[in-house]
Amino acid sequence: MRLVILGGGESGVGTAILGKKQGYDVFVSDFGKIKDSYKEVLVINEIAWEEEKHTEELILNADVVMKSPGIPDKSPIVKQLKSKGISIISEIEFAAAFTNAVTIGITGSNGKTTTTMLTHHVLKSAGLNVGLAGNVGKSYAWQVADNNYDYYVIELSSFQLDGIVNFKPHIAVITNISPDHLDRYDYKYQNYIDSKFRITMNQTEEDFLIYDANDEAILEWLKNNTVRAKLIPFSLTDEYSEGAFIKNNTMEVKINKEEFTMDTEHISLEGKHNLKNAMAASSVANILKIRKSTIRESMSDFQGVEHRLEKVLKIQNVQYINDSKATNVNSVFFALESMNSPTVWIVGGVDKGNDYHELMSLVREKVKAIICLGIDNKKIIDAFGNVVDIMVEVDNMSEAVKMAQRLSEKGDTVLLSPACASFDLFESYEDRGKQFKQAVKNL
Ligand code: ADP
Repeated sequence: MRLVILGGGESGVGTAILGKKQGYDVFVSDFGKIKDSYKEVLVINEIAWEEEKHTEELILNADVVMKSPGIPDKSPIVKQLKSKGISIISEIEFAAAFTNAVTIGITGSNGKTTTTMLTHHVLKSAGLNVGLAGNVGKSYAWQVADNNYDYYVIELSSFQLDGIVNFKPHIAVITNISPDHLDRYDYKYQNYIDSKFRITMNQTEEDFLIYDANDEAILEWLKNNTVRAKLIPFSLTDEYSEGAFIKNNTMEVKINKEEFTMDTEHISLEGKHNLKNAMAASSVANILKIRKSTIRESMSDFQGVEHRLEKVLKIQNVQYINDSKATNVNSVFFALESMNSPTVWIVGGVDKGNDYHELMSLVREKVKAIICLGIDNKKIIDAFGNVVDIMVEVDNMSEAVKMAQRLSEKGDTVLLSPACASFDLFESYEDRGKQFKQAVKNL
């Protein structure tokens, strides 16, 4: 069987290794450049590859094609494959066929990585033989090739879900849904929502779907479609006979007559959005019958994830927070909502069609100064120019942080939460977050 892999990144190389191990004739083709470290892996494993081109004769003879999530359906080579009727799947679909592990799949517009890592932390603390995969860390296919885990916690993007056929997580989580990546979904929000719900399409009565019960898009979809899995809602405001909720500062999880409670004060992650992530992760743990004391300990000693509301340093009693991963308006909403002191907000980058309206009242209430850090700050200035007293533009991270120090006083918070992509001034959101942390340390 000839397996052709489009895209030589983390999921492509992972699939190549697994495919080779399973006896496929494997070929990796990348229209861009392949990272040197990945090339080395391909060479060591005697896997054929090409870069900066797609050679049709080597691709169109495939029995099966794995397309990396970054490649859009509209690209010419994908169109050609489709017209020939060649099956195109995602890495998740390919890898799932080679493991019997129990899988927990986590998707959503925001909170995927945090919920995935928190869930993995609880399962690992409980002593389960569990792997972490997907967009965080090693790809799922690579993990399946190298390890023999009994459980996987997998972060799933909508692009990964678009390429599944039979993949079925035993427990699925949809953290929330808000418009994102619409350029890949014909600018139709409904298509993006449908894509997220593919996570449950192969589930059966023995499986579970955990979801935010206050999310409009999720509720609307559930009203109009049937789900076979058992539905487990979580909510900050409503109580459920089966599900997770917050009542009088206590998190309660009730599933299959198992009941788990925990004082929210002891949950290490801050902010309302993280209470939701904690409810989702605790629901998974409850379904898997993990000991309550272990869930409680894991929820209180989880260190958080880099670049997500990450506390960097306190200098002269000003707290510096790195939320570089906040690349859309919705995640900034939750960041600002969780601020407890006057905030100097560093924002900006590549605009993704942002509508800043929903932030207006939070900015009025919490933000004392805005520092714009982007090539084009017009939209931000137009939106908030009349809302905050101080608004400045800077050219680089070091200037932004120095300016933030100048504008803040004892008890304030300096928050980097850009609401935008990073590619104007930085390599990635990680690079942006690292530069922020370094600049803070330099103070
Ligand atoms: P994802 O992997 O879906 O991008 P992350 O866990 O990396 O999500 O978090 C991305 C950003 O969204 C962070 O800035 C974080 O503060 C914010 N965030 C985390 N969880 C949620 C949530 N449940 N709802 C809204 N925003 C969230």
